[in-house]
Amino acid sequence: MPKMYGWVREVVPESPADRAGLQSGDLVRTINGKLVRDLVDFRFYAADEDLLIGFDRQEAQREVHVKKGIDENLGVLFGEEPTPFIRQCANKCVFCFLKGLPERYSPQPGMHQGMRASLYIKDDDYRYSFLFGNFVTLTNLKELDWQRLDEQKLTPLYVSVHVTDPDLRRKLVIGPRAGEIIEHIQRLGSMGINCHTQLVLMPGINDGPWLERSIRDLLALRPIVESISAVPVGLTKYNNMIENEGLPPLRAYTVDEANAVIDLVEGFQRELAAEDPDGLPFVYLSDEWYYITNREFPPAQHYGFYSQIENGVGMTRFLIDQWAKTKRRLPASMPEKQRVALVTGTMAVPILEGLAADLRKIENLDVQVLPVINQFFGDNVTVAGLLCGQDVLAALQDRASAADLILLSRVMLDNEGVRFLDDMTVEEFKERLAPARVEFVRNAQETIEAVRSIAGIGRGNDRRLVRVQSRL
Ligand code: SF4
Repeated sequence: MPKMYGWVREVVPESPADRAGLQSGDLVRTINGKLVRDLVDFRFYAADEDLLIGFDRQEAQREVHVKKGIDENLGVLFGEEPTPFIRQCANKCVFCFLKGLPERYSPQPGMHQGMRASLYIKDDDYRYSFLFGNFVTLTNLKELDWQRLDEQKLTPLYVSVHVTDPDLRRKLVIGPRAGEIIEHIQRLGSMGINCHTQLVLMPGINDGPWLERSIRDLLALRPIVESISAVPVGLTKYNNMIENEGLPPLRAYTVDEANAVIDLVEGFQRELAAEDPDGLPFVYLSDEWYYITNREFPPAQHYGFYSQIENGVGMTRFLIDQWAKTKRRLPASMPEKQRVALVTGTMAVPILEGLAADLRKIENLDVQVLPVINQFFGDNVTVAGLLCGQDVLAALQDRASAADLILLSRVMLDNEGVRFLDDMTVEEFKERLAPARVEFVRNAQETIEAVRSIAGIGRGNDRRLVRVQSRL
C-alpha cells in the first residue's frame, strides 16, 4: 500500500465512482482541485454533487468527472490510514493506560507474541475524534489545525477534560497548553463546533470539589458542550502513577468513594433533568460506577440518544433493553442436548447471569457464564475489551470441551475482527478450541441469532442488525 492517503481498496459496484471508471489501486489525490490529505478531507470534499477527481493510475495522472446526489456516497473504500499520518499525543498523562506497557515483540514469560501494534499508538487526533468519537485533549493543535477545524466545521468533537482547574489539569495531562482547556472549548464554540466531554476521575485527585467545579465550568459552556461524562480511571498493573508534584498515588475507587461520586453527580442530574424539556441530565456516569457500587442502572430515558455509549455510558442499559426486546426470538428447546458458554470479563458477570437465566429456560440447553481474570493487565482490569487472547484461551482450555458453542464479545478483537490485543489471531484461537464452535458477538441480537443457529433455525449472525459494540 502506498505510504499516503487516498489509495482505493475497493469501488462499490454501481456506485458513482464505479460508473465514472475509478478502480481499486487508483490513488485519489485531489477533489475539485483540493488536496485529499486524509479521510476527513475526502468526506468533506466528496460531499458535493459535481466532483472533478484527480488520481494516479500506474504512475499516470488522470482526472474524471463524477456526478452524484448530495446524499449519495461516492462509493470508494480506502485502505487503512498509514500509521505515520495519525496525529500522536503530545502529553504524558499521569494515568496514561499506555505507560509501562511491555515492549512490543518482547513477550513476557508465557506470553503469546507481544501486543497489537496499534495499542502502542498514543493517538490524540482531532480527525479521529470527529470521524470515530475518539477523545482528544486539544493540546497538540497547531494554528493550521484550528484553521482546518474552522474551515471544515468538524463537529461534534469528543474532548478529554479531566478537570477544568488550569493548574491541576497541567499536572494531570502534562502537555502543551494543557491549562487552557476552557479557552480551547470556547474557541471551538466560536467556530460553530460543539463537543462531548469526559472527566476521567482519580480518587482524591480530581473528584470531590474539583469535580463539582469542573461540572459547573462545563455547564457554563453550554451549548458548546453537549454532554459531560464521568469515568473512573482505568488502572492496569503497568500504569502506576509516577511521582508528580505531590499528587496522591493512583489507585482504584473504593465502594464508598464511588458512592460519593455518584451522589455528587446525581445532585446535578436531578437539577439539570428538571430544567431540561426532555428531562435529560446532561452529566452522565459511566457504567463502571454502577458496577462498583452494585447500584441499579438508570432507565433508557436517562441516556436520551446515548451520545457517549462508545465511552461506556449506558452500554449496560442498552444491552439489557435490547435483550428484553429480542429474547422472544429464542427457541423454546434444542433438538438435542447443547452446551453454551458465555465468556466475559469479571465486571459484567451479574448482567450476563441475567441473560443466562433466560437461556437456561430453553429445554435441552446447558448454559455457563465464564468470567476471565485479566492476567496480562492485572485483575483490576475487569472489562471484556481489555482481555488478551492468551488469558481467554487459558481460562477456556480446561472447560472448552464442556461447550458446543462459545460466545465472546466482539469488542475483544481489533476493528477488522481478526486479532486479540496480544496479536493472537482468531483463526489460531478457534483452532485451539476446536471442535467447540466459537462466535464473537456485538450485541443482544447477535447472541440470540447464534443460539438460534445451534437450534437449527435463524440466519446466523445478521450483520444488518443494530451495530453497537458492547464492552461487556
Ligand atoms: S492523551 Fe491519552 S494517550 Fe496521550 S498521554 Fe494522555 S492518556 Fe496517554
